[in-house]
Amino acid sequence: MGLLAVGLDVGGTKVLGTLVDPQAPSRPLAQVRVDTPRGADAILDALHEVIDAVAAERPRGHQLGGIGVGVAGQIDLAGVVRFAPNLHDAIDFDPSPAIAERWSVPVVVDNDANCAAWAEGEIGVAHGVDQFALVTLGTGIGCGIVVDGALQRGAAGFAGEPGHMVVDPNGPPCPCGRRGCWERFASGSGLGRVARDAAEAGRADRVVALAGGSADDVRGEHVTRAALEGDDEALAVLRQFAWWVGLGLANLVNVLDPAMVVIGGGLAEAGELLLEPTRAAYRDLVLAHGHRPEVRIVGARLGPDAGAIGAALLAVK
Ligand SMILES: [Zn+2]
Repeated sequence: MGLLAVGLDVGGTKVLGTLVDPQAPSRPLAQVRVDTPRGADAILDALHEVIDAVAAERPRGHQLGGIGVGVAGQIDLAGVVRFAPNLHDAIDFDPSPAIAERWSVPVVVDNDANCAAWAEGEIGVAHGVDQFALVTLGTGIGCGIVVDGALQRGAAGFAGEPGHMVVDPNGPPCPCGRRGCWERFASGSGLGRVARDAAEAGRADRVVALAGGSADDVRGEHVTRAALEGDDEALAVLRQFAWWVGLGLANLVNVLDPAMVVIGGGLAEAGELLLEPTRAAYRDLVLAHGHRPEVRIVGARLGPDAGAIGAALLAVK
């Protein structure tokens, strides 16, 4: 009778819980989603609720072998959430002891993008690749780095935050307190800004229509949707945006020299419409292109469940 694992993905708006069989993790046995409440105590209650609900779905005779929790924030090597700007009042939040006491199984807490990277390496597009980075382009930018087959957490657990590499010191303010971070340009919010500029110049009519008629309401998803319809102006906006994605990837590749970069997050739904111009920009910008092996820049395979599945797999590793 195999041991099962619970994985949670704790984001700024939702807590996703999943129950997986580590022998067949790509087909979760159960999933539960609740809103993320405010405050550490309420978040811990929500984690218990989600774990109870998915664990109750385990087939008769199956025991839990571990619980993994992926959190959008900086997690230290002991699993304490040190800084999580999207989780209200959850600074120095340490959920492991209470969960471990309730379930008497090992509990692992890690950064959500680290969890997603682990899942892509175990059962996704990076399976068998020892050197890769996963970059998630969503509201912000997340990253998990795998070197020699192991997640790189750094000396304190804070490694892998290229979203806060400054690419324009005079750029727009970032929630982290600085200006011009890469994620201000290359996340969904960055795409929204490029699109609003185009809309105000009258170069994004279909995108504005999808946003309900006002340029102020344009967001990244409207661009993606119009581009998938084949709208030329939206495709032009996406190409302009892709230059910023390619710039950050070139910086990342110059540091890490990975074999593959996996692009995940909501914007990955644009697929080749985003990936193709991103690769072109990356090739123009990376050091010594033409003298180095091609780095494969590919879309993630696992979709929005990757973080929860990866958390589960890390808990029973
Ligand atoms: Zn920042």
